[in-house]
Amino acid sequence: MSEPLNFLAELTGSFARPAADNPTVAMIEAAYQHHGLNWRYINFEVAPEDLADAVRGARALRFAGFNCSLPHKVEVIQHLDGLGESAAIMGAVNCAVRRDEQYIGENTDGKGFTKSLLKVVDPKNKRVVMFGAGGAARAIGVETALLGASHFTVVNRSKERGQELVELLNEKTPVNADLVLWEGDYDVPTDTDIVVNATSIGMFPDVDAQIPVNVESLQPSMVVADVIANPLRTNLIKDAESRGCTVLDGLGMLVNQGVISIKYWTGVDVEAQVMRDKIVEIIER
Ligand code: NDP
Repeated sequence: MSEPLNFLAELTGSFARPAADNPTVAMIEAAYQHHGLNWRYINFEVAPEDLADAVRGARALRFAGFNCSLPHKVEVIQHLDGLGESAAIMGAVNCAVRRDEQYIGENTDGKGFTKSLLKVVDPKNKRVVMFGAGGAARAIGVETALLGASHFTVVNRSKERGQELVELLNEKTPVNADLVLWEGDYDVPTDTDIVVNATSIGMFPDVDAQIPVNVESLQPSMVVADVIANPLRTNLIKDAESRGCTVLDGLGMLVNQGVISIKYWTGVDVEAQVMRDKIVEIIER
């Protein structure tokens, strides 16, 4: 007798691409196929006013879990039964997991980033400079702080959003954080260990956009990470490489958040490379 089929879903605000070209669906299904997992991952376009019904539907259909993307990451919380530690601090969920008949909200975005980061540097006792203070920055900031980073400088254009993130990091994690308002090219302090771009500057189609940073201030000892996955080699990544830095592209975060989500849902450690290859195939199409 064959195993029952397990379903997972992505609840999203709108489809940027047709399902066959949706990178998340394609990379997760590629992992299932590679590992012979009898699971399916499907995506649904859900209007904000239908979110409660969509989650009720997932419960009724006994989905093992679901991802949610913008604009549902915060609103979904009121429809879940509990939150993981970092999701509770961030106040945002991108992955719900059915545990003992309850849907628990997790945030695998920041965990995906740190899983990728840990392959090149342990952030414990390290000094971090991060550009941006939006959703991606919040996830990265909280997760990296929970791993023991000693200091965080948030460099952001708007004061309110920057201040909000700095207060969250100082109040809810062990890290010391401060805010620098972004005006002109930023000089990265020489004692910085990790530099992260968590803004959308340089994202397709604005691939020629330059992050306002003094490239000469990047040192070979620094790890420079970009959240942008398309293009894979952003101007920041190219500049950092030319300065001799260790670089991490945004695909590491994207793929690893998927690897962690699949582990939560199925208990299986899947091969990240299979998922990465599938996304690169889609980006390069
Ligand atoms: P948000 O809209 O929540 O935040 C965007 C941030 O970028 C804000 O801090 C904003 O500053 C800053 N920003 C945008 N444009 C500029 C500019 N021209 N100059 C200075 N600052 C700017 O977006 P998200 O945090 O959700 O996403 C940010 C990026 O991260 C996107 O490119 C997204 O694709 C990527 N991402 C990648 C993931 C991955 O797995 N690789 C996962 C999630 C996101 P301000 O506050 O002043 O407006």
